[in-house]
Amino acid sequence: MGLLEGKTGLVVGVANKRSIAWGIAQALAAAGMRLHFTYQGERLKESVEALAATLPEARVHPCDVTADAEIAAVCRALAEDGGALDTLVHSVAFAHKEDLEAGFVTTSREGFRVALDVSAYSLVALTRAALPLLERSGQGSVIAMTYYGSEKVAGNYNVMGVAKAGLESAVRYLAADLGPRGVRVNAISAGPVNTLAARGIRGFTAMLHHHAERAPLRRNVELREIGDAALFLASPMASAVTGQVLFVDCGYSIMAL
Ligand code: NAD
Repeated sequence: MGLLEGKTGLVVGVANKRSIAWGIAQALAAAGMRLHFTYQGERLKESVEALAATLPEARVHPCDVTADAEIAAVCRALAEDGGALDTLVHSVAFAHKEDLEAGFVTTSREGFRVALDVSAYSLVALTRAALPLLERSGQGSVIAMTYYGSEKVAGNYNVMGVAKAGLESAVRYLAADLGPRGVRVNAISAGPVNTLAARGIRGFTAMLHHHAERAPLRRNVELREIGDAALFLASPMASAVTGQVLFVDCGYSIMAL
């Protein structure tokens, strides 16, 4: 009997098999959780459907997180499907390419708005829409993905660092709001992983090498390890853990010199 047998999860943010969301989905599914996935736009539909088809009874829905109507439609589908949601995984981020290249000071008003909307506000919008379903679970858990560039300056991470700071703060405010309603909200701060989104950051390969050299474990994190951390946060083993940022970064973030 898996740890999450009979539970239902919604995973937002799979693009392909390298996606952190897919690593998390595999860990949750292996523990017995039945999953719903979303994809952003027709371009990713086929790829997400093909991955979901490898898991038992998984369902796939379109959802651009900047569109409230699409978020509402996903939650309606979930309500019709069974009515309770145990885990919501938010693994979504976006910034315009030019904002991940030039100096941070050049960030445009529109670039700032888009990055914060997609990467931080969407957690609030998704959690609010899914709240009745999460409450019905009795032990709902929301998990967001973040990076250390929220706390310290990481070259070329720029507006995404500001968005992640907003996301982490939103995790704490949501956790305080929703704790009395039995819903936990946490973030995983992962070390760098070679994904589609990561390749948009200029100098990302150098960043991978730097992390592996400096981290106490002398390597980079694997997708499976982020999935295992999400499994912990989704499970009753983390029933007293909320509002936290859990570092899964081979220890990189503890180093000063
Ligand atoms: P990825 O490209 O596989 O996933 C990013 C996802 O965001 C994609 O599925 C994309 O479709 C989705 N997305 C972007 N805009 C969207 C929108 N408007 N509506 C719906 N979906 C949208 O890359 P990833 O690295 O797996 O990123 C997942 C999360 O992990 C992000 O929050 C990222 O910041 C975070 N993270 C990544 C790393 C890393 O090194 N890769 C490290 C720490 C945290």
